[in-house]
Amino acid sequence: MANTIDQIKQRITPEGIMSACGIHAKRKGYQWWACCPFHTEKTASFRIHMDRKQTEWRYTCHGCGVYGDLINLWANIRNNGNLKEAIKELVNNYGSAKPVYIKQKPADEIQTSNKSLQMVKDIYQTAKPICSITYNENLNPWQYFLSRHINLKDKQQFLHPNLRYHKNLSCGKLYDKQPNNLYPESSAIICGNLIDGKLTGLQRTYLKQDIGKFKNASGICKFSLGNLHNGLSPVWLGKDKEGKPLPPATKNETLVIFEGLEDALSYAIIHPNDRIAIGLGLARLKNIKIPDSFNHILLGADRPKKPIHKKQTDSALHKWTQDNKNAEIFYAPYGYDDYNDYICGEEL
Ligand SMILES: [Zn+2]
Repeated sequence: MANTIDQIKQRITPEGIMSACGIHAKRKGYQWWACCPFHTEKTASFRIHMDRKQTEWRYTCHGCGVYGDLINLWANIRNNGNLKEAIKELVNNYGSAKPVYIKQKPADEIQTSNKSLQMVKDIYQTAKPICSITYNENLNPWQYFLSRHINLKDKQQFLHPNLRYHKNLSCGKLYDKQPNNLYPESSAIICGNLIDGKLTGLQRTYLKQDIGKFKNASGICKFSLGNLHNGLSPVWLGKDKEGKPLPPATKNETLVIFEGLEDALSYAIIHPNDRIAIGLGLARLKNIKIPDSFNHILLGADRPKKPIHKKQTDSALHKWTQDNKNAEIFYAPYGYDDYNDYICGEEL
């Protein structure tokens, strides 16, 4: 039951619950104010807000004193306070671990040219494992990670050697469609050899503090080369606390997958011993071939800002479920868009 309630709480939103409960509220920052559904009033004293630990949504009426979480709210308004009934309804609406899917075409296999593959290999070999670069906060990539609230000062030993740093990489040489664009910024590279020991591709991330605003001439500030390898996506795994590679995965272990580097690192700091993989953008998640040893996949994602984001994560879950994996999605706690936001300001 506790697990069911947690799952429901991960999936419900204040907007969704208020709409189902007929509450019309005004949003003020991360709070909503409405006229209380439990007593008669003309000015709003009913509030939906995060709890003190910032882990879940609660309601409080400053007029009549009622309070509780969103499941209590649903139960009190829709089920005469019957919590069991409320949970049943909520599971029907939000609680399914296997979402309803739209049937998708299988992903097209992209042919890899030997030339592209050689280029990727060359870049990989000339890049240095980030774990081998002495920590200095004025130095890329450490500076970049700090700017994203990822403090790796005492944790660099757990970085996998596949996470690499390349000084002055010219992205333009890699981007076939725009051969004249050269971007001499430093890059982080994630590579994957989880499947069969072969290099399967790389993702590149500009290590620039204002990456969100920075745009080069063609509007590209960050891109991946995940399509260089027949649909297999690069994967990065963490190491244990002593810096040793994790032992081979045993049957039924959980693989936690993130779309991007930063969220995966943020999560890895909190859960250093978990099996963690990085995909190459939402659209490619469904192409990740999951090793047989993992039966359970947890996909860590940003809260979907657009319907397409949800469609992409759903189609990845769908694909993995078809491969007989138990696949679920989870988000950073409510109030946060992603794990970087979540750990921002918190002690690591
Ligand atoms: Zn009230």
